Amino acid sequence: MKSKFQPDKNGYYGQFGGAFIPELLHPNVQELADNYIQIIESEAFQTEYKSLLKDYVGRPTPLYFAKRLSEKYGATIYLKREDLNHTGAHKVNNTIGQILIAQKLGKTKIIAETGAGQHGVATATVCALMGLDCTVFMGEKDIVRQAPNVARMKMLGAKVVAATSGSKTLKDATNEAIRYWIQHPETFYLIGSVVGPAPHPDMVARLQAIISEEMKWQLKEKTGKENPDTIIACVGGGSNAAGAFYNYLDDEDVELIAVEAAGLGVNSGESAATSQLGEVGVIHGSKTILMQDTYGQIVEPYSISAGLDYPGVGPLHAFLYETKRAKFMNATDNEALVAAYELTKIEGIIPALETAHALAVLPKMQLKKDQVVVINLSGRGDKDLETYINHLED
Ligand SMILES: *Cc1c(COP(=O)(O)O)cnc(C)c1O
Repeated sequence: MKSKFQPDKNGYYGQFGGAFIPELLHPNVQELADNYIQIIESEAFQTEYKSLLKDYVGRPTPLYFAKRLSEKYGATIYLKREDLNHTGAHKVNNTIGQILIAQKLGKTKIIAETGAGQHGVATATVCALMGLDCTVFMGEKDIVRQAPNVARMKMLGAKVVAATSGSKTLKDATNEAIRYWIQHPETFYLIGSVVGPAPHPDMVARLQAIISEEMKWQLKEKTGKENPDTIIACVGGGSNAAGAFYNYLDDEDVELIAVEAAGLGVNSGESAATSQLGEVGVIHGSKTILMQDTYGQIVEPYSISAGLDYPGVGPLHAFLYETKRAKFMNATDNEALVAAYELTKIEGIIPALETAHALAVLPKMQLKKDQVVVINLSGRGDKDLETYINHLED
């Protein structure tokens, strides 16, 4: 049975998706489109992917019953501990999978774009693991702001190339990566979220689906039922949410909540709440919802968390929003900071700032004591310590 949440053969989820790319890149994208499902479903890939996830990444990640958080909010709350993965977040699930796909396609050179540097580090990590050449494009401004991740990438053997155009941030790094890809079509473009031209969104969703695959058996073990009542995940491009939702998309009794970053407030002019502020348009090769001005130029988003500071959402999420299959909520910088301190104090877990946005909607929900809620704890907060310390609560 084919789910309506799977893209069609042209990579569309309803009206969203597709591959809006320069003609020169068409053969690359077509090569991937012709092969990715067959590769992912092959026994050889599955054996290698699962074995690396187990012994290199440290999966399965625990599903932890957060007793004190549950008491505080009057619900039954579990945390899916993606923060315990090697490199500290869910991103490595995707980079491990894509590096294996690149190898099967005979590619030896990898390019990637990165904002905060988390995806760049996850990509440089798997390139080191496989001995492949790695070039990461990063905005000049982000290179300064995210110096520790730049150092990590370099230590891992990657070349970091500064994008010096436009606002010198993620969207410019992406433009630079695409430009390089056109000039060097033999490279494999390892995209970091469920964004980009088809088939990238679906490929990344399938690679992150391991999150909800594990949730099913872990919940069954702990509660006797595979399905929770509610799943909450933060959304930048949407890959950790796609992974946490994936195996529940057709189970309409499971409420899916996607949390965007509201920055200083949805209507403050300094926000990244794409579904609330965006309109249909094309960004990074796919048709989706994005923040744009009346000329169709991308509006610079803002969030305290670099990982959510993206002006679009992936086409699957645009479709989940339009069809109302997922509920879209948002949290401001301050609400996220409060939630991060709260989780740290009552559960002893320092979450990533991105993840803190997912936690921050708990006080806004009407929860019931026996309601089983799973929050996807997408990453750990070490990288955000400086921000946390600058906003230290007393
Ligand atoms: C990158 C990142 C995100 C946002 O990316 P998605 O593709 O929306 O998942 C969320 N959480 C953490 C910890 C991240 O590193």
